[in-house]
Amino acid sequence: MLHSDPPKARSKWPYVTSRWKKLRLVKLAHCPLCWICEKRGTIIEADTVDHITAIRKGGDPFPDLDGLMSLCAPCHNEKTANVDRWDSATGRRFKGCDASGNPVDPADGWCGMRGDLKARYEAYKIGREWGWLSPNDIARLENMPPIAGGDEYLSPLNMTVLGAREGQEGGAGE
Ligand SMILES: [Zn+2]
Repeated sequence: MLHSDPPKARSKWPYVTSRWKKLRLVKLAHCPLCWICEKRGTIIEADTVDHITAIRKGGDPFPDLDGLMSLCAPCHNEKTANVDRWDSATGRRFKGCDASGNPVDPADGWCGMRGDLKARYEAYKIGREWGWLSPNDIARLENMPPIAGGDEYLSPLNMTVLGAREGQEGGAGE
């Protein structure tokens, strides 16, 4: 009966398939060190390959190599021990941060937030420099209070309407 399948039986797939076994070997050849230990500053040989996004959380069972992580046995055990009491908000399975203060767990929700933050700030920078976002537009997008004098838009000096450059040089700005 499908519904009474013990978790162990389910966890055997896809690890018993030859496709997975090949993928595992390729990953280990590519990344022979435990990724989590390396982030924590220790060099240890990996002997297990694991999914960064768990299959049961919608992860691809056979992802690209960067969707996988090489782990040593203790780190894999740490993950397995934590797997059933995941914080659903963060998905954190490994404790601690690396030398730059990022969580060692690549699936950590906060890790993803940082990525988004960087992408958002890059987008704001572009919007600001090109004159279509004011500081207060950005503050609103970030749910931050507006700042005094923050409603001004920049006029990009290197932008002119095509054909308007002649005779208008130096006239723009005020
Ligand atoms: Zn390890």
